[in-house]
Amino acid sequence: MVLSKIFSQSDVSMHSTFASRYVRESLPRYKMPEKSIPKEAAFQIINDELMLDGKPRLNLASFVTTWMEPECDKLIMDSINKNYVDMDEYPVTTELQNRCVNMIAHLFNAPLGESEVAVGVGTVGSSEAIMLAGLAFKRKWQNKRKAEGKPYDKPNIVTGANVQVCWEKFARYFEVELKEVKLTENYYVMDPAKAVEMVDENTICVAAILGSTLNGEFEDVKLLNDLLLEKNKITGWDTSIHVDAASGGFIAPFLWPELEWDFRLPLVKSINVSGHKYGLVYAGVGWVIWRSKEDLPEELIFHINYLGTDQPTFTLNFSKGSSQIIAQYYQLIRLGYEGYRNVMDNCHENAMVLKEGLEKTGRFKIVSKDKGVPLVAFSLKDKNRGYDEFEIAETLRRFGWIVPAYAMPADAKHITVLRVVIREDFSRTLAERLVLDITKVMHELDALPAKPSSKKSVNNEENGKISGSREEKNGTVVKKTAMETQREITAYWKNFVMAKKSDKNKIC
Ligand SMILES: *Cc1c(COP(=O)(O)O)cnc(C)c1O
Repeated sequence: MVLSKIFSQSDVSMHSTFASRYVRESLPRYKMPEKSIPKEAAFQIINDELMLDGKPRLNLASFVTTWMEPECDKLIMDSINKNYVDMDEYPVTTELQNRCVNMIAHLFNAPLGESEVAVGVGTVGSSEAIMLAGLAFKRKWQNKRKAEGKPYDKPNIVTGANVQVCWEKFARYFEVELKEVKLTENYYVMDPAKAVEMVDENTICVAAILGSTLNGEFEDVKLLNDLLLEKNKITGWDTSIHVDAASGGFIAPFLWPELEWDFRLPLVKSINVSGHKYGLVYAGVGWVIWRSKEDLPEELIFHINYLGTDQPTFTLNFSKGSSQIIAQYYQLIRLGYEGYRNVMDNCHENAMVLKEGLEKTGRFKIVSKDKGVPLVAFSLKDKNRGYDEFEIAETLRRFGWIVPAYAMPADAKHITVLRVVIREDFSRTLAERLVLDITKVMHELDALPAKPSSKKSVNNEENGKISGSREEKNGTVVKKTAMETQREITAYWKNFVMAKKSDKNKIC
């Protein structure tokens, strides 16, 4: 999206040493060039500039797949020119998507009869999947309210405050009030009891998360189901559940098959999962599965007569690539249940290696859970050493690691964490290396002259002012140098900006 700002007025053209062999004049940055350039030059200019991007495989911030087998890369390249929507022309691709939908529905224990086919659709990611699932709930609720002659203009949805930003998007774009259960210190997921308490007659559904983005923790969907069943019995409502299993949907069935979070629970009506996270496909694929036909209102399905045949569709976009669907099918048949279990087992083990390594340093408190998405979220135990998690993240960048630091949402905002996501391509060696590098970074930061503690800065920020030039430390008054005061002001602004950013929780 082009909402970016132009930072430099003077730097209006781009230069490239190699490409200057082909083009003598530099290219305009924001205007289409008048003339064509040789293809070699175009390639080189872009290739060179992209070198400054981080290395995807060292990007420990993201759940999204960064490695696939070369055989699958080939299938992807071979289908890169196929428009998915041309179902009539590419019937095999459509068939592969339907097979994926059914395989995933079975994996999630959809109550399907012998010859029954699953209800679901491939999407660009969990965000699109969530918009569709949310719309189905909203429409179903509206239809019911209309039939009862009751007002249907104030729908709401209940979630934890730890929801991913796409739920806020859904709420805003589709005009549904988002009712968030607040988090507390040491409990960073939705409390099912509090969620059920917030449910009212206008609630279209409760959305639970299997694998909170913040710390990977699974929410207790079974307890939510049981409490909600009780409430429904008393009130006569039929509030149901959507499970956002963007990351956990391809983990729980393999590592903890006995955990009941899916269609085994009667109130779970739809589930989304990101094919491009632990579904092990590159960015661009997600899935939404409905429990049964009755849970997807017929009027949301478009029957288009496109180039000859009737095609039922329920998506937000029209044209899109086919490669990701084909790649998902490749992974499902190539790995099978056994293969996925091995990959998830490995990820989990590497997460444990990293967790134990970090615990051994004695400097971190682990805020992720062993049973959850394979990631390690951790915060500093001692906040009074004059640096915070953001500085650790920044310093780690120098070693090539991309590790995000972020603040928890409202009511746990003072907690900052670092988060390392373990993907298939993150080996044990890398986990051990990362622990070594984090230790080095800590030594480096320890050796820096003392700075005002970040905790103080946060407090100051809450008070709305920057503290003066004196500070109590261990009972003695320490006079600050101009440098220290300068640092404090910088820290204040950093915290201020981070607090603004953390409101959105834009980590993915
Ligand atoms: C990643 C994620 C999303 C968004 O999914 P995309 O596939 O990136 O669109 C939604 N919810 C949760 C819990 C996630 O982890």
